[in-house]
Amino acid sequence: MTMQRRAEKIEFFRHGIIEEDIAAATAVLRSIFLTTGTVTRDFEAKFSDYTGLPYLVALNSCTAALHLSLLAYDIGVGDEVIVPAMTFIATATAVMHTGATPVVVDCLPESGLIDPVQLERAVTSKTKAIVPVHLYGSLADMRAIRAIADRHGLRVIEDAAHCIEGERDGVRPGQLGDTVCYSFYATKNLACGEGGALGTKDPAIAEKVRILRTHGMSREAADRYTDRYQHWDMVALGWKYNPTDILSALLIRQLERLDETLVQRERVWERYTRLLEGMGHLRLPDVPGKSACHLFTIWVAPERRDEILHRLQAMNIGVAVNYRAIHTLRYFRENFGYRPESFPIAADIGARTISLPFYPSLDEEQSVYIAGCLREYA
Ligand SMILES: *Cc1c(COP(=O)(O)O)cnc(C)c1O
Repeated sequence: MTMQRRAEKIEFFRHGIIEEDIAAATAVLRSIFLTTGTVTRDFEAKFSDYTGLPYLVALNSCTAALHLSLLAYDIGVGDEVIVPAMTFIATATAVMHTGATPVVVDCLPESGLIDPVQLERAVTSKTKAIVPVHLYGSLADMRAIRAIADRHGLRVIEDAAHCIEGERDGVRPGQLGDTVCYSFYATKNLACGEGGALGTKDPAIAEKVRILRTHGMSREAADRYTDRYQHWDMVALGWKYNPTDILSALLIRQLERLDETLVQRERVWERYTRLLEGMGHLRLPDVPGKSACHLFTIWVAPERRDEILHRLQAMNIGVAVNYRAIHTLRYFRENFGYRPESFPIAADIGARTISLPFYPSLDEEQSVYIAGCLREYA
């Protein structure tokens, strides 16, 4: 049987913003205060409860959280920071924005997560920090990474853009890292368009980041907005990374629904796994521990990836590639002299990978259709 192209597109992603979130954002728009204020503080408090991390600073992106984490630990020119080859570019560009050098490390062939053995080999006298990435929603081996960091006196800054809800070996994002960086970008599990947050157990780091997120000013607009005018001072060279209350409002009720939507994601994940079982021309990455189920990725033969990608698209299925390994991208090749063979496992995974449509409302009929198309490409 040949699959017939369906008339209605299956989107790659659909966000989970509903009327109550829109009402919360509208309430901010009807108020007088639009920028970082009480709604953002409310979100920070609720996100702190959810993550179990005592200090949460909301920002306008995860990239900002990564950048300010590094700056808060005085990492900059002359320093090295270890990053995985299999990640989104922001993991490495945040390092470059501080003036430090990203040192790329290859990943494990089963999961695509950073390889702790190669990681430790990459440590030099200049290394200051490690930025592990919890790829697709699966946590990196944080126990191993923390042990390496402690042996060499390094900071661990977790890129948890894919993983708010996951757990591995009894560890959740942020529990073993010095800081953890979350994303609320348009397609993340918790999404408001653009947004991020930094979590930490260290109050001094949180305070530094709070100041750096608004120009290095000693008081934020919300603090100045009191009965009696209070002067602010500039105490550091900061950035413009603060979030707005308009977008923070979209996150508060979504966060309350996050565990419920994770159960729905897990159902879609299991259904895909069942439907794709036995298809010899593709494989699924291993999932160590409990995944946050962010991206549903298949690995196919590298020489057939683009063909399959385009055939899925031709069948009206939304697809993405998360990711081609960063060291194979032009900027990294030209500026660091990397070649695909420099990190062969990540290069290979990056040449094989396809992300399928994945979100709680992806239904049985859609999943069966997608699996049916993939079966034909054997
Ligand atoms: C999305 C993403 C980021 C960047 O998040 P922003 O909020 O868009 O800055 C960083 N790392 C990974 C792994 C991501 O997927």
